[in-house]
Amino acid sequence: MKEKQELFYDVIILGAGPAGFSAAVYAARGNLKTAILDINMFGGQPSNYLELENYPGFSLISGFELMEKFEEHSDKFGAEKFPMAEIQKINLIPEIKIIETNDTIFKAKTVIIATGAQAKKLGIPGENEFKGRGVSYCAVCDGAFYKDKTTVVVGGGNSAIEEAVYLTKFAKKVYVIHRRDELRADKIIQERAFNNEKIEFILNSVPLEIRGSNTVEQILLENLKTNEKFELNTDGVFPYIGFSPNVDSLNGQVKQNSQGFIETDVNMQTSIKGVYAAGDVRNTPLRQVITAAADGAIAACSAVKYIETFTPVHA
Ligand code: NAP
Repeated sequence: MKEKQELFYDVIILGAGPAGFSAAVYAARGNLKTAILDINMFGGQPSNYLELENYPGFSLISGFELMEKFEEHSDKFGAEKFPMAEIQKINLIPEIKIIETNDTIFKAKTVIIATGAQAKKLGIPGENEFKGRGVSYCAVCDGAFYKDKTTVVVGGGNSAIEEAVYLTKFAKKVYVIHRRDELRADKIIQERAFNNEKIEFILNSVPLEIRGSNTVEQILLENLKTNEKFELNTDGVFPYIGFSPNVDSLNGQVKQNSQGFIETDVNMQTSIKGVYAAGDVRNTPLRQVITAAADGAIAACSAVKYIETFTPVHA
């Protein structure tokens, strides 16, 4: 078996979304030897956002384009990139942190966890069975398959409502199923959906089961006010009920809240010295590209300060 290479850095950033790339820019520009790892390709969740209109400086930009700019910026300052790097072992406790992937043992004085979050599952019968056959968590990726078809979006937040509007480009009808009678989405986003004739809201209702044969054919719903159960014909189901943090690879080494989001102080310091968390993976009141980027900058600056107590790797 090929021996693993051993690489040493001042800072290793886990996750290449807005928090990770922002941290990389600040760390590399702060003269730290910086590596950025991601289990997938780079860009994180925003790569799937069709349009962003609240990232200051860009009144309208696709998430993919914005993340390309983040990556170019981090490249400019020399952060080293490791895509498709799956963590096999991790030890954040010692002074020198160790992260092992399939071909490399990374050692670092500091680690910034910016692994983001992923779509929550409905946890109902049929969801797993029909994944890829009518159940999708990405309207941007799969919307075009629903030309002149009927789809259901579950959720009442910004993601659900934006994606429902997006799906109307293809689908003839989009039902939005929401468990309350009031949406959580921003008013400006709600207005767009209310003005769209193809969208019908089914409120105070939750999905109980996704049904079909080869592909999705119906969804069983329950009205929470009347307890009435009813079936709706649909070709697709898009659950958009929020996100859970990507923390599995950390083996519970840092302190997390009851939902698994990592606890930090204002400096993005976690419960372990030299380990920081930034972006959606963190217990934070707002999960946006701008807040993730700000977290990344703070985390990197905290790492720079902490590392002043060490001799830099490339000094
Ligand atoms: P979210 O804001 O947490 O909304 C989740 C929605 O799903 C809520 O309406 C919630 O209902 C519902 N829900 C949760 N669990 C459910 C369950 N088990 N069954 C049925 N419904 C359930 O999540 P999000 O919309 O994905 O947004 C995440 C973050 O990204 C937010 O901060 C959002 O502002 C941000 N975002 C921003 C933009 C933008 O600015 N362009 C776009 C997308 C996302 P309740 O309302 O009853 O809790």
